[in-house]
Amino acid sequence: MTDPIAGKPRQLRNFIGGEQVDGVRGFDKSNPVDGSLIAEVHEAGPVEVDRAVTAARAALDGPWGRMTVNERATILRRIADTIERRFDDLVVAEVGDTGKPEALARELDVARAAANFRAFADVIAAAGLDSYLTELPDGRRALNYAVRQPLGVVAVIVPWNLPLLLLTWKLAPALAAGNTVVVKPSEETPSSATLLAELLLEAGLPPGVVNVVHGFGQDSAGESLTRHPGIDGVTFTGETSTGSAIMRAVSPLVRPVSFELGGKNAAVVFADADLDAAIAGLARSTYLNTGQVCLCTERIYVERPIFDDVAAGLAEAASRLRLGRPANPATTTGPLISQKHREKVLSYFELAREGGATVLAGGGIPSLGDGLDTGSWIEPTLWTGLDNLHRTVREEIFGPVAALIPFDSEEEAIALANDTDYGLAAVTWTSDLTRGHRVAQRMRVGMSWVNSWYLRDLRSPFGGVGLSGIGREGGNHSLEFYTEATNVCVQL
Ligand code: NAD
Repeated sequence: MTDPIAGKPRQLRNFIGGEQVDGVRGFDKSNPVDGSLIAEVHEAGPVEVDRAVTAARAALDGPWGRMTVNERATILRRIADTIERRFDDLVVAEVGDTGKPEALARELDVARAAANFRAFADVIAAAGLDSYLTELPDGRRALNYAVRQPLGVVAVIVPWNLPLLLLTWKLAPALAAGNTVVVKPSEETPSSATLLAELLLEAGLPPGVVNVVHGFGQDSAGESLTRHPGIDGVTFTGETSTGSAIMRAVSPLVRPVSFELGGKNAAVVFADADLDAAIAGLARSTYLNTGQVCLCTERIYVERPIFDDVAAGLAEAASRLRLGRPANPATTTGPLISQKHREKVLSYFELAREGGATVLAGGGIPSLGDGLDTGSWIEPTLWTGLDNLHRTVREEIFGPVAALIPFDSEEEAIALANDTDYGLAAVTWTSDLTRGHRVAQRMRVGMSWVNSWYLRDLRSPFGGVGLSGIGREGGNHSLEFYTEATNVCVQL
């Protein structure tokens, strides 16, 4: 996409203190659908990152810091209205960066962005205080109550898979709690964050409350931000190894972190499951967004009597997916985010073949024609014949692929599902609801679904155990991270 006036690629600048700010250098952002250049992005250097943190700090002392909870909640609702008014523009930004089907960006990404702001406006408007009346040995009493203050300047670092959804999932509670923010979007998806920054001003958020810096991670804007002494905490969604690097970066100044990291999520299908519903659900949990959702299923354990039926049904569902241009209503599946990510996913396809996998669907690069073969397309893929020790069944691939493995008992299914260092999400398919509750509770994960997947109530806790994260976000759980509690104790 070129700038119609200058004839140059669209320029995406940093957004600091309410103004567009040039970077130290530019980098290209291309469209994964066909590899064409979309924009030139201005990379923030340490000076721009420092300006952004300084602007955020100053905004804490400005009108934003003096607003009442109700005034903040009103602004959050206005932001949601503004997102809905500019819905189509946000869809264009998100689809351009990711190549995902337009219908998906509408139903999931942009709709959830508005919902996130409304949900946290409600949370903050209804939030109460902890208080205790304490009885003392001499018969007197003391009143303890905890007031919540904003954490301060929050660094928000987000990935490329659901860019606007994941950004607003952090931005909305951070703002609800009265913080100011410096956002570092993924270098792969700079567009929707840049547009959102403008919309926030339009909705009445004072300049400097939200700042956006562009760039990469290590030795770039991400690292400058996490090492900056002026931030009061980091909320991060992305790879586990990046979370580990961020933890090291903030450790000298002991800043709090909230981490939503990778997963290697299991589904367990019992023989009594509604087979059609299970296969449709598995197709969705494996292939939605080309498998690039942290909650996507990559390991599917199937009770032996129905193993062949599930394998055949899911392979057929994979072959029915339609890869194509985002605007085509028949398209169900977009490309991977980049050629680099496709190389990673293909390296696992190779490992699976070397490990003796039977490829029931896909397994390579499709030939699509129509100018698409320069994009980063990949075939929705399904394997059998791999065991729980194989690298393809242990490591997060983050593509449209799953391994099917048989089991013979409930205990074995739970043991297989829990045999991982990750612990983000799990799905149980069964018609026996007692068993559904029993198995779901024994999954060592943050989110355990029964006969469903990615069904969200934004008040419920979201996060992971083990390598999948630290902390929970959602509803009041988000306030734990985005505020500091001060207990006041008054002897009566
Ligand atoms: P990534 O970790 O490579 O990048 C995420 C963000 O961190 C980007 O903005 C990147 O520029 C930045 N970054 C990278 N190195 C950094 C550093 N050293 N210091 C500071 N910032 C740095 O992740 P990705 O490839 O963009 O996203 C995919 C990953 O995200 C997958 O592992 C997926 O499971 C995970 N994810 C998790 C959740 C969840 O809720 N648990 C949700 C979505 C995605």
